[in-house]
Amino acid sequence: MKFSIQSRNDQVSNELAQRAKQYLCDFGLEFDDEEPEIVLSVGGDGTLLHAFHKYSHRLDETAFVGIHTGHLGFYADWKPSEIEKLVISIARHSYEVIEYPLLQVTINAENEAESTTYLALNESTIKSPGVTLVVDVELNGRLFERFRGDGLCMSTPSGSTAYSKSLGGAIIHPSLPAMQLTEMASINNRVFRTVGSPLVLPDHHRCVLTPVQGPDFMLTVDHLQLLHKGVRSIEYRVANEKVRFARFRPFPFWERVHDSFVSSDS
Ligand code: NAP
Repeated sequence: MKFSIQSRNDQVSNELAQRAKQYLCDFGLEFDDEEPEIVLSVGGDGTLLHAFHKYSHRLDETAFVGIHTGHLGFYADWKPSEIEKLVISIARHSYEVIEYPLLQVTINAENEAESTTYLALNESTIKSPGVTLVVDVELNGRLFERFRGDGLCMSTPSGSTAYSKSLGGAIIHPSLPAMQLTEMASINNRVFRTVGSPLVLPDHHRCVLTPVQGPDFMLTVDHLQLLHKGVRSIEYRVANEKVRFARFRPFPFWERVHDSFVSSDS
């Protein structure tokens, strides 16, 4: 089996990554940075986001597993002390693969040839550099509202514990193929009105944002920051692609939520 390792690049993560690489090679696995079947991410959830984007062109062939060298993460849920156990399980192929939904973001440019599509593991956000963001929000082809405010965030279920949670979004179990739209400081008064609540959309729904004011946007896709000029519309949908995680033992999502946000003693 071919494997690769993504490290956060601090000393602790690099040393652990080096040990994991040596153990896996000793078990006869082949290090292959180009076409790995399994990717070990050593660091935090942010490190796994980097690994995901590096291999997002081969999601059908690559599964991910995360070891945390800081606090417990959502994608990085193995402890460094468990590395030998993890390596043996990888070598024996004794794991199952679970799939989580992703978000597809299409930026339709005024010049059609420049339209771009991205996949997000956590979320995509949109802001307007220096001015209030004003966009029409369309759901399934019908105008839903005109949004004025700091920005909007469309998140995946597994991203619902990240930025979306800070914006008051619900935590969504990653077995649900859905996406969630949350507002960033919407302007609401007698003249301007938005729904004011997060919206959870199923996988057969589409959400399209059309600029009302200014065609330039600051967009994020997970950790990536992108300035898009000349935007005609932005379309969100639950992606057909899924991310695959190698699961070696049960670690229910709600336990991870409890351990991360409620209390780490149980
Ligand atoms: P960062 O600013 O260095 O880290 C953001 C924090 O989000 C880290 O503590 C990271 O955990 C955590 N995180 C990432 N994915 C998560 C998930 N699915 N559930 C719970 N926590 C998660 O940025 P980064 O490392 O490049 O990561 C980019 C992410 O930062 C974005 O996708 C966005 O979700 C998040 N972000 C959050 C806010 C906010 O909450 N106000 C603002 C901007 C961006 P680790 O420490 O384990 O890496």
